[in-house]
Amino acid sequence: MSQPAEVVSPGISQLFHYINGERVTGNSGRFGDIFNPSQGVKSAEVPLASKSEVEAAIAVAEQAFPGWAATSVLHRSRVMTKFVRLLYEHQHELAELVSREHGKVIEDALGSVLRGIEVAEFACGAPHQLKGEFSDNVARGMDTYSMRKPLGVIAGITPFNFPAMIPLWMTAMAIVSGNTVILKPSEKDPSCPLRMAELFVEAGGPAGVFNVVNGDKEAVDTLLHDERIKAVSFVGSTAIAQYVYATATANGKRCQAMGGAKNHMLILPDADLEDVANALMGAAYGSAGERCMAISVGVCIGDEVADRLIEILKPRVEALRIGPSLDTGLEMGPLVTKEHRQKVMGYIQMAEDEGSKLVVDGRDFVCEGHEDGYFLGGSLIDQVKSDMQSYQEEIFGPVLQIMRSASFDEGMALATDHPYGNGTSIFTKNGAAARTFADRVEVGMVGINVPIPVPLAFHSFGGWKSSAFGDHNLYGMEALRFYTKVKTVTSRWQEKGLDTEFSMPVLK
Ligand code: NAD
Repeated sequence: MSQPAEVVSPGISQLFHYINGERVTGNSGRFGDIFNPSQGVKSAEVPLASKSEVEAAIAVAEQAFPGWAATSVLHRSRVMTKFVRLLYEHQHELAELVSREHGKVIEDALGSVLRGIEVAEFACGAPHQLKGEFSDNVARGMDTYSMRKPLGVIAGITPFNFPAMIPLWMTAMAIVSGNTVILKPSEKDPSCPLRMAELFVEAGGPAGVFNVVNGDKEAVDTLLHDERIKAVSFVGSTAIAQYVYATATANGKRCQAMGGAKNHMLILPDADLEDVANALMGAAYGSAGERCMAISVGVCIGDEVADRLIEILKPRVEALRIGPSLDTGLEMGPLVTKEHRQKVMGYIQMAEDEGSKLVVDGRDFVCEGHEDGYFLGGSLIDQVKSDMQSYQEEIFGPVLQIMRSASFDEGMALATDHPYGNGTSIFTKNGAAARTFADRVEVGMVGINVPIPVPLAFHSFGGWKSSAFGDHNLYGMEALRFYTKVKTVTSRWQEKGLDTEFSMPVLK
């Protein structure tokens, strides 16, 4: 059972770091505030680690590395299997931690926990996945084989919007490959990752393998500059992803850094618009739009499609069931913080000022009984043009922008030409159009009659353009490649002695 965090004043608990299998009190004297977004009140403080605290955690992870790397892959997989079992047993507790600090509704929080567990389940297959290659008899008496070796200490730096799923994407794959990890979760909702690290140790994971250090830029910079960190997995906004990628690689580390998004859905005239509306409601407004794979732009091919779709969507957006995140049966909770709510409201104003049409303005929404919560209603915006700043930038809130394109090619070009390239989808009954779209659009993840095409754990996740920096996607076999390096051995065992060879072999 988890110990409750220390209460420092009525209703406010103090969180900790989790290093070497223990809760560690922060000693930097700096704290970040955590809020309950449904109530708009501070609920906890999280210590923000100093450089020396991060360095001490890296030393622990470095010390744990040789032992864990030398453990048989079968044993690592068994620990992962027990971890998965505990994650399932505690899924509701984890979902509640997510929902309380992030604000997404409890059913959605539970789904996000499950999407994370699926990656940990995939990681249990490491004995098969980490098998190397073998070629026998590449020359007389000579064989060549390759193996995948872990890198050392890995840093995982994660965003606020998926505090269970994204930490699991990184840690499960890095750990099962034989690495040790320092996870630096978002300072806005760190309770779930802290609890998961405890569960890993409860599952038999050695102390020092899965560490959580809380912090802000100081902690991240320490991880990026310390030579004992061999690889960095980052997910967050594009500006920080670019900075993390540039700094980590300049310091000789492997880095995969996922950034922001603006995901387009192309709606062709032959699509069933009821299906499209059903798909769009969840994809645009689920999790209050705080998903990097949320659909934020609906591109209608032709005015008629746009007019009919807006007619269906408008009453549904106005009737979204919005309320405190732990209530059941709701469609949307609050946004994560007051500042983020303010930022989203600023984009809605910008869209109006730029000349697009507010069909539904979510800014006036008030959640009765929770007037201080960080709530916004859903917004639906029509007549959006490609040169508008509110279109070019990521809003990351419950806002759906509708664009009208004259043709399929023009609509596809919007997704291709946009600076972001995380996800996109097409709704149509025309197989050839769907195939052309999937083939040609310059975006990393594509859905065909699927609004949010997040690949399952045995594929991998990654965008293109300003949505991702680095060569490898997250999870799946891509992650095993990212978290390991290949060693190739050529051996000769033969009865006859060796001849002297000055030249490279030639054809005889
Ligand atoms: P963020 O960039 O503010 O923070 C991400 C991480 O970086 C956090 O751990 C934070 O502490 C750290 N950080 C913040 N400022 C920093 C700085 N100046 N220097 C060093 N580190 C810093 O992102 P967020 O607001 O937590 O998350 C939302 C963003 O994440 C959105 O842009 C969303 O699209 C993106 N996201 C992308 C994906 C993807 O896979 N492409 C997935 C989820 C979220």
